[in-house]
Amino acid sequence: MIERHIRDVPDFPKPGIVFKDITPLLQDPKAFQRSIEGMAGRVADFEIDAVCGIESRGFIFGAALAAHLGKSFIPIRKPGKLPWRTATESYELEYGTDTIEVHTDAVEEGQRVLMVDDLLATGGTMEAGVKLIRKIGGDPVACVFLIELDFLKGRNKLRGIPVHALARYDQ
Ligand code: AMP
Repeated sequence: MIERHIRDVPDFPKPGIVFKDITPLLQDPKAFQRSIEGMAGRVADFEIDAVCGIESRGFIFGAALAAHLGKSFIPIRKPGKLPWRTATESYELEYGTDTIEVHTDAVEEGQRVLMVDDLLATGGTMEAGVKLIRKIGGDPVACVFLIELDFLKGRNKLRGIPVHALARYDQ
């Protein structure tokens, strides 16, 4: 049960949001290891060439999962962080928009990419991540998350791609 290693922090970063804090899980080596093995188990049936993580907590799980699976790792970052040529994708937030970037040479044409983030909420971030990987010629074959907030229906934005999560919350 990874749920007991996830701390609810009410009203962070703003009133009304219950933040799912994963640092207790990271503090427990066995729980962290089990979560990586659990994510690997969920996607064992997919043939993949690379794992992609979205800044910043997606790096923690994505990079560990890539090393565990013996695959390469692709970082998707906030604007202005990547030094080489980038492709860009913007997406809507509650107020305003956000942008993410990836190196244009991060994948070879047709490479099968497993998409990773710590948490699926409204799905906007991962939807943009999927579009970005497609833009540079990759094929996002599945998404895996540690946590899914079911009530926000983020899956609806990821139709056509299998979505897996280790812990699902319905409120
Ligand atoms: P979304 O684009 O709405 O699916 O939001 C997903 C991104 O925002 C992920 O990178 C999460 O790390 C972060 N996030 C959204 N809601 C929460 C939450 N309640 N607790 C922790 N992180 C969150």
